[in-house]
Amino acid sequence: MRSLAKLTPCPVLIDNEWSVPETAAHSVVCNPSSGETIAEVPMCGAVVVDAAVQAAHAAFPAWMETPPIERARVLFRYKMLLEENFEALSESVTREHGKTMTEARGDVRRGIEVVEYACGIPELLKGDSLENIAPGIDCHTVRQPLGVCVGICPYNFPVLVPMWMFPLAIACGNTFIFKPSEKVPLTGIRLIELLIDAGLPPGVMNIVHGGRECVDALLEHPLVRGVSFVGSSEIAKRIFEVGTKHGKRVQAAGGAKNFVFVMPDAHVEKTVDGLVDGAFGCAGQRCMAASTAVVVGSAAEQFVGPLKDAVESIQVGRTDRDPAAQMGAVITREHRERVIGLVNEGVASGAELLVDGREVNVPGAPDGFYMGPTVLDRVEDRMKICHDETFGPVLNVMRFEDFDDAVETANRQAYGNGACIFTASGKIAREFSHRIQAGMVGINVGVPAPLAYFPFSGWNYSFFGDLHVQGREGVMFYTREKVVTSRWHNVGEGEIWHTD
Ligand code: NAD
Repeated sequence: MRSLAKLTPCPVLIDNEWSVPETAAHSVVCNPSSGETIAEVPMCGAVVVDAAVQAAHAAFPAWMETPPIERARVLFRYKMLLEENFEALSESVTREHGKTMTEARGDVRRGIEVVEYACGIPELLKGDSLENIAPGIDCHTVRQPLGVCVGICPYNFPVLVPMWMFPLAIACGNTFIFKPSEKVPLTGIRLIELLIDAGLPPGVMNIVHGGRECVDALLEHPLVRGVSFVGSSEIAKRIFEVGTKHGKRVQAAGGAKNFVFVMPDAHVEKTVDGLVDGAFGCAGQRCMAASTAVVVGSAAEQFVGPLKDAVESIQVGRTDRDPAAQMGAVITREHRERVIGLVNEGVASGAELLVDGREVNVPGAPDGFYMGPTVLDRVEDRMKICHDETFGPVLNVMRFEDFDDAVETANRQAYGNGACIFTASGKIAREFSHRIQAGMVGINVGVPAPLAYFPFSGWNYSFFGDLHVQGREGVMFYTREKVVTSRWHNVGEGEIWHTD
């Protein structure tokens, strides 16, 4: 098979054939570090989507019947290919996303861990059994795949988020259509080239590209059975509504606004490190980013000064060229303007600019999409910046006299992805983790993102559906349970019959 992934425009993959569809509209992929255009994405519509769904549907019966251990063997080979291509994949992430190489390697490593988890599929698919539920009657359960599943991904983790979806989906016996973010399709294409090289039969894995038109065609297609979506909340909510209306099983993870509590007894240095990494890692473009530092009581006096110093020391630079760069650009020029607009609104509504990153000069990259780390102090519940997801390098600081008030304010937020606390008190940590309305809690951990074997467990406006990605919930999402109740009678010789 010819490799097309390095060419522009980006190819689709249908039935193990790469091709570039003719489409009326295209979108461009940029290197955020330089602002250069590096690829062009065909915005596919219903015709291309239908071809991909038909290929996936045709491949499903044979793939479903393939023994789980044989499906796992493809993933074992895939894992080896991912390791061999680890640095090249990380470079690709840095080039199209703008993360530092350390962050890009983290994206690839976390993704590989999901593949490793999926390699255990024979064990993960095992059901329950109980004999003698009544005299001579036994009962057991099996898990069977749904059929054609689709995955619609955001731009911020070009490896990890797709890996939340397709390795488990195909390990469970489903066939799959992957729609990468049109902002970062190149790494996704390479991921699938490697999967095909690992020996996946034609039609089991397919890729299409596009935006709303493409996604709507996937959501409305009668042969699609399962939809995994990760992206912003308004779109996640719509995906859930449209997908379920068309009879699909849907898991749709949305945006976030994560609160990090800092108690007066917390370890100053480690807390500042945790906050800085949580807020400014990946230039704040993480659904588990620390958005708001909630400083309680006298914590403000101890932490705000060291926090300001640490943030001011962050080196913003060309992550694709400069290994010393600690923070890269944001994904697009429009996104930078949006984030700066939110900061301006925060200042206009009374927040104090503790660190102002709105203007930043990166030598040799006048057209890069850079914004410096920014801290807004004395943010209040009434302000828009307190509630809107910024998804950029901006940390709010809110000051509270009382822990209970702080918890109530945090619990009034619409989102419910992550929440953290830094404290030396087991009692207060326990109280926090019990009462806080968020699905993923960190205790003296700045970014409590669960690894492959736990669900990525957003709540409230951060998640629409029942079963999350990753871990056992991922296996449950991509399978249906069947309960078999059996009783056997003696049969006379003449009544024995065969199916083959
Ligand atoms: P996005 O919502 O703009 O796009 C996500 C996907 O939806 C893309 O593939 C895009 O092509 C598609 N899309 C865009 N508009 C659409 C429309 N109108 N109808 C149907 N599909 C559409 O998100 P993004 O900017 O790529 O990613 C950032 C967002 O993702 C943030 O809100 C972040 O919090 C969220 N995110 C959440 C998680 C989580 O686990 N909860 C993880 C990563 C990112």
